[in-house]
Amino acid sequence: MKALCWKGVNELSVDTVPDPQILNAQDAIVRVTMTATCGSDLHLLDGYFPFMESGDVLGHEFIGEIVETGPEVRRHEVGDRVVVCTFIGCGRCWYCEQQLFSLCDNANTNPAISEALWGFPAGGCFGFSLVFGGFTGSHAEYIRVPYVDHGAFAIPDGVDDENALFASDTAPTGWMGAELGGVQPGDVVAVWGCGAVGQMAARAAFLLGAERVIAIDRYPDRLAMTKRHAGAEVLNYEQTDVPGELHEMTGGRGADVCIEAVGSEAHGTGLTNIHDQVKHKLRLQTDRPTAVRQAIYSCRKGGSVFVLGVFGGFVDKFPLGAVYMKGLTFRAAPQHGQRYIPMLLDRMAIGELQTAHYATHVLPLDQGPQAYQMFKNKSDGCVRVAFRP
Ligand SMILES: [Zn+2]
Ligand SMILES: [Zn+2]
Repeated sequence: MKALCWKGVNELSVDTVPDPQILNAQDAIVRVTMTATCGSDLHLLDGYFPFMESGDVLGHEFIGEIVETGPEVRRHEVGDRVVVCTFIGCGRCWYCEQQLFSLCDNANTNPAISEALWGFPAGGCFGFSLVFGGFTGSHAEYIRVPYVDHGAFAIPDGVDDENALFASDTAPTGWMGAELGGVQPGDVVAVWGCGAVGQMAARAAFLLGAERVIAIDRYPDRLAMTKRHAGAEVLNYEQTDVPGELHEMTGGRGADVCIEAVGSEAHGTGLTNIHDQVKHKLRLQTDRPTAVRQAIYSCRKGGSVFVLGVFGGFVDKFPLGAVYMKGLTFRAAPQHGQRYIPMLLDRMAIGELQTAHYATHVLPLDQGPQAYQMFKNKSDGCVRVAFRP
């Protein structure tokens, strides 16, 4: 089959790779009908996540059709049109029972690296290197889906592919930021990053009752999109002092909930940003926490900060003093999609939630290498590329 493979830092190619096989009784093989690029793929592309091997297939957000099932698959059959959660959960371990699916104890068949890195084994994730189990990614014609009864969800007839696609990763991630960030009716919510996840977090905040959402980015087209589709007020951080502006906009109190949807390759302005960029280039720090710092600084006393952007290592100048002195709740997590996907599909079916516009470009897989360059450089107004393999 055809697949988009990582060959080295900033080097991708469309190759012919072996077709996936059923390896365990609870596996299914899914023919991928649509798969999206994600900001976290860029950390892999750039080599900031140093556990990729040449030939690894990228991609973790996808929908498709089940074409083969293992003997113990109960809830799905061949022909089902499904959205598959990015993270793999066994559905039975203690973590899965607590609905902490991305922390599943059984999904990652290669726990050693993450045990050494973080003290505990990471969960399993499609297309995200050996650290998350070495599962093949979705930028391919077919994919093996382990524990398919727990990770795949039938797409309602009324939901088209372009919307359903983002129920795999983007929508549950954004939703979780707003929900676990503790958004309450009447809240003022600030969101850093207007990529698809940030836009979704803004929309979710409104659906959970926020009165105002203020979104922060530096790309005018992404800001305009967040204003248009999510109804957020927007700030361009290259044109304004964001903490000062937020202070002003909230009558001096600060935002109730701050959601960071940027991740480890954040940009910024000012001295701390230059310091971060230099340390990052010299590999003296693994992640740039520019937006995290600003979220902590801009949050009201007693408020809540939720980090959705992907971080893998250490950060510099983490303002622990501000977290402590302001009595903040600080949380972060990869998404527990299995918890949210059925609800999100229901909201899509009644037209309450639209996500199709995140895919600003829909292309064949053959154009993968160029598509990733466009996505990385955010050229041509690119928010996300979706492939139809
Ligand atoms: Zn993702
Ligand atoms: Zn589990």
